[in-house]
Amino acid sequence: MQKTMTRLADGRELIYFDADDSAVRDAPDLRPLERGAPLSEVRRDPATGDWVTIAAHRQGRTYHPPADECPLCPSRDGRLSEIPAADYDVVVFENRFPSLARSTATGGSGSPDPLHLSSPGTGRCEVVCFTADHGLSFADLTEARARLVLDAWTDRTAALAALPGVRQVFCFENRGTEIGVTLAHPHGQIYAFPFTTPRTVKMLTAATAHRARTGRNLFEDLLAAERADPERVVLAGEHWTAFVPYAARWPYECHLYPNRRVTDLTRLTEPERAEFPLLYLELLRRFDRLFIQRGQTAPVAPTPYIAAWHQAPTRGGDELALHLELFTIRRTVGRLKFLAGVESGMDAFVNDVSPEAAAQHLREVAT
Ligand SMILES: [Zn+2]
Repeated sequence: MQKTMTRLADGRELIYFDADDSAVRDAPDLRPLERGAPLSEVRRDPATGDWVTIAAHRQGRTYHPPADECPLCPSRDGRLSEIPAADYDVVVFENRFPSLARSTATGGSGSPDPLHLSSPGTGRCEVVCFTADHGLSFADLTEARARLVLDAWTDRTAALAALPGVRQVFCFENRGTEIGVTLAHPHGQIYAFPFTTPRTVKMLTAATAHRARTGRNLFEDLLAAERADPERVVLAGEHWTAFVPYAARWPYECHLYPNRRVTDLTRLTEPERAEFPLLYLELLRRFDRLFIQRGQTAPVAPTPYIAAWHQAPTRGGDELALHLELFTIRRTVGRLKFLAGVESGMDAFVNDVSPEAAAQHLREVAT
């Protein structure tokens, strides 16, 4: 893997990840861009302890551009995009409309008032383009390309965790207009947060309680239990296991764990990295086959999904286990699950599909 760092016209970093170690990446960004001044603020909800990012500057961002104006396609035929090169393998760049950015310290007084805690929205938001081919999706990638994406996620996890003020690095992909994706080009995002995210705080609290009660690690016990009684196991590799969680919140939700607990992507070994693309691509392809109607061979619309990497925060996260949570908001052909009163109002999920039935379905649609 070859990594080439460069800068866009407005000073944002752009990094090429190439499979070919001799790739030359010297195309300049010729657009007349001005350096933006994104200002955001993080505020702590005193009632729940959750941090919320207030990013009121983002309303002007690119929204469903036509395919020939896609900002994530390579620059070709005089049409200049976010990527100056005429082609690329995997590319990562700083989001032009970030929720969090290297801050010039506006907003957030650092006031000691516990009811109004805030700080500048310091951090970073990056875009990860998985391929130059606008029409593909992650599930269409080769194993080698999926591995290159894994290497890019790993590189960014290490680099962003080292930035001042960053507490947690979150790599994820939103796929499908139903999820709210505004650019069709296959891509994911990385957020470097200046706080530990609410879901991770809850997991660490549960893991700490489990350690106090049993002397053991919660996630190691959880994975061992699922593997011992494989009713909810979807894929079992030598180094990774995918299973539907016991209390799944989403109609189809699958968690992919390395069999050896590590806290983040940077700690995976070569054999673990090598096996990941096989299992992950198979899982995504199965998700795409979940909602094929009787008599059809392909789904009417691709399955919308969210793929979320859970990694330990930069401090105090020793009990966490690196894993990927993949889920769709589609519950059956043509029907979506919306987060309504009980979920949005109370964080109390009602799932219409039993986790055991979901696991069975995900085993049946194997390639
Ligand atoms: Zn595109």
